[in-house]
Amino acid sequence: MSQIIDGKAVSAAVKQEVAEETARLREEKGLKVGLAVVIVGNNPASRVYVNNKKKACEAVGFQSFEYALDETTTQEQLLDLIKVLNNDPKVNGILVQLPLPKHIDEKTVINAISAEKDVDAFHPVNVGKIMIGEYAFLPCTPAGVMRLIESTGTEISGKQCVVIGRSNIVGKPMAMLLLHESGTVTICHSRTKNLKEICLGADILVVAVGKANFVTGDMVKEGAVVIDVGMNRLDNGKLCGDVEFESAEKKASYITPVPGGVGPMTIAMLMKNTLTAAKQQAGL
Ligand code: NAP
Repeated sequence: MSQIIDGKAVSAAVKQEVAEETARLREEKGLKVGLAVVIVGNNPASRVYVNNKKKACEAVGFQSFEYALDETTTQEQLLDLIKVLNNDPKVNGILVQLPLPKHIDEKTVINAISAEKDVDAFHPVNVGKIMIGEYAFLPCTPAGVMRLIESTGTEISGKQCVVIGRSNIVGKPMAMLLLHESGTVTICHSRTKNLKEICLGADILVVAVGKANFVTGDMVKEGAVVIDVGMNRLDNGKLCGDVEFESAEKKASYITPVPGGVGPMTIAMLMKNTLTAAKQQAGL
């Protein structure tokens, strides 16, 4: 029987730290922190994420600037807005909610955001910094996972770490962060052979596949730390992870639930990145 990692509690602690530092810097240095969130179109899931980000900004004492653009917004118009935000000193962080409508090229848009304000850490400059371990911003979801692992008191150094998934947003940066902590890291993907055997060797197993209940208890090593990044909406409307919780929790020492595990961490780490951006821009 495993211990459940409470992502809500850990994320609340991160937000509390950010709120306290924000209040202190406002008081002592007159620093104000602002995050611009840009959404294009009416994707209902994106709207929920944007609203949650706005609420989190309010909770930690940031100003939030929302730009809700019509589905028909052209790439040129979006790039013009990003230029304005890049030059606006009230805006310390810029987040463009993905996915964007098909007629807009995501790469071009991400590359247009000033690297200093790229609080999602998707800009190639920030991705490069992650590779060499000199990061200004940690990518939010992998950084949240690291904080959850830390909350269990588990030492990463020398451990067998397996990451399933190699996306630019989760899998790849996740593997890098574990490597920087001296884990021995294996990255698995859809072409990986013997996935079960590889997983059974994992002391720390991070799953970011996007398939409900993909990892089952028979793939989990006794005593492993299991982190489920997956967020899958089932036909009955319920949210479900990539790990079959009931069977995996019988083997794991620690495991994240879905919901209430990695999900809340992503926004908390976004708040942390925005404060970091504001401090850097103010030379603090
Ligand atoms: P993605 O871009 O679709 O990547 C999925 C990865 O899983 C790919 O690398 C893919 O391999 C791999 N994969 C697919 N089938 C596989 C198989 N049978 N065996 C082994 N690997 C397989 O997804 P993502 O953006 O990384 O997101 C992954 C999940 O995390 C999704 O459920 C997403 O909703 C969730 N997510 C959650 C948060 C959060 O805040 N909690 C944030 C981001 C994402 P190939 O590269 O070979 O295709």
